[in-house]
Amino acid sequence: MFSRNTIARFQNTETPFYYYDLNLLNETLSSCKKASDQYGFHVHYALKANFNQEVLKAIEKVGFGADCVSGNEVKKAIEIGFDPGKVVFAGVGKSDKEIISALNNDIFCFNVESVQELGIINELAAGLGKSARVAIRINPNVDAHTHKYITTGLEENKFGINQWELNSCVEELKKCQNLELIGIHFHVGSQITNLEVFRSLCLKVNELSAWFEDHGFNLQILNVGGGLGVDYQNPDEHPITDFEAYFSIFDKFLERRPGQEVHFELGRALVAQCGSLISRILYVKNGLKKNFLILDAGMTELMRPALYQAYHKIENISSDSGQTVKYDVVGPICESTDCFGKEIELPDSKRGDLIAIRTAGAYGEVMSSGYNLRERVQSVYSE
Ligand SMILES: *Cc1c(COP(=O)(O)O)cnc(C)c1O
Repeated sequence: MFSRNTIARFQNTETPFYYYDLNLLNETLSSCKKASDQYGFHVHYALKANFNQEVLKAIEKVGFGADCVSGNEVKKAIEIGFDPGKVVFAGVGKSDKEIISALNNDIFCFNVESVQELGIINELAAGLGKSARVAIRINPNVDAHTHKYITTGLEENKFGINQWELNSCVEELKKCQNLELIGIHFHVGSQITNLEVFRSLCLKVNELSAWFEDHGFNLQILNVGGGLGVDYQNPDEHPITDFEAYFSIFDKFLERRPGQEVHFELGRALVAQCGSLISRILYVKNGLKKNFLILDAGMTELMRPALYQAYHKIENISSDSGQTVKYDVVGPICESTDCFGKEIELPDSKRGDLIAIRTAGAYGEVMSSGYNLRERVQSVYSE
């Protein structure tokens, strides 16, 4: 996957660092753009997956909007050049300060996650003499069939407004003079690889959008969220997710009125494969039952394995040994969960070898931390 020249470049670079293949990123973005344009669908990029400056610039350039989950993400998106008219703001706990700042920036829409939040946005908008566009985030109780830590659309999850609360939502909206309901919003989870989940979501959206129409609301937007998965097992075989298959499900099953827009909020599927965490082996520790490779990168640089038991493909990209050995690949942090993989078959490895942890472009660098007073992880880009 990495060219000889790239590996030579890595040899001369201080580790650990994130490497971003901007060519792959651009190919992924064009593939998504082409597939969504064909149906007239609108894509907002979920900034929380990766807000690296170069990555954001590339995404802004293809013309996608921005899906933000904090006031600072809203600010960042606008700073990078995203049109505020294409910025949406979701999140269960928007603070007053964040709401005011987003109102002052005239963002496109607030995705509202509780009945109480409707009243608060209304009050703050009134205070500024503004009207806020809102979409109701509804918890559709659709199982994403993904890891339970990244499931968001079940009644046991904290996200969104439950269906039995919709009547009180409508009551509240009637009282809110400074709100305009423009749509309904859904997001059922992340790393969804079973496309049946999206078909179930479409059927639920059809039912709920009909409910709103029956209650006299004219919804301009159906926002179906993100969650499309990538192939963590085989990044070289599937560097770009099948966007065509994904969007065609919505085209086929989602009922739309003429002029009604369909919005998507993709994060992972756009950025995961273009990023790798590159590190060096500090020590090789041979135990009685286990061999350990101790890397100079740990959960402070890539937290997903510790946080969600996530799998990432691990490669030794500088060994030329023909012999393989099984290793537990771990980081230097003082936590037992600081482990990238157990019993991983790799070429016979030695101190100084370069290790690539693949498919790390989404929820990698953004979750890095300073725990153990670690240095901030650097990034390197393809030429
Ligand atoms: C995280 C998130 C997304 C993006 O999810 P991916 O799985 O990365 O596509 C979209 N919408 C909302 C509201 C989110 O919180």
